[in-house]
Amino acid sequence: MSTSFVQACDNATTVRLLSKVAQSSGCWEWRAAVSRDGYGYFMLNGKNERAHRASWLMFNKIPLDGKFILHKCDNRKCVNPDHLYAGSPANNVQDMMSRGRHRCTRVTHCPSGHAYSEENTRVYRGRRNCRSCARAAASLYMKRRRAKFVKAGLTTKGAEPRRAIND
Ligand SMILES: [Zn+2]
Ligand SMILES: [Zn+2]
Repeated sequence: MSTSFVQACDNATTVRLLSKVAQSSGCWEWRAAVSRDGYGYFMLNGKNERAHRASWLMFNKIPLDGKFILHKCDNRKCVNPDHLYAGSPANNVQDMMSRGRHRCTRVTHCPSGHAYSEENTRVYRGRRNCRSCARAAASLYMKRRRAKFVKAGLTTKGAEPRRAIND
């Protein structure tokens, strides 16, 4: 389905939106206000709306209702309705992952909530490991190991590892 400019220009708001767009056969690049996150902004019904969302709404005439409007072309400045589709927040995450925009370095804490600070992080085979978690796991292991020795009627001395578990 191709959306022509002629079809699109049926009301004043659409004309205003399209006046801020660099017309080309491919992406319709936003030439007006762009926010720090790279999306164009457009005043719609007295509200600042992301330009691609405004465009999608105008051309599809379907309420946004909290929908995520996503780019097929991966060009945040593009407002070509043919390059846009409505999805769920889950789509959005999948989209980011499949496009490699999801960077693991953005993760600042381990799954247990310890900060990946310099002292608390050990990089092993390119992956970050949380020292707090490693320590907790090691001490739990030792606790269980000592208990086993005690249960068997042995001293806990025998349970101590020959080498330190922690690096
Ligand atoms: Zn595009
Ligand atoms: Zn941790």
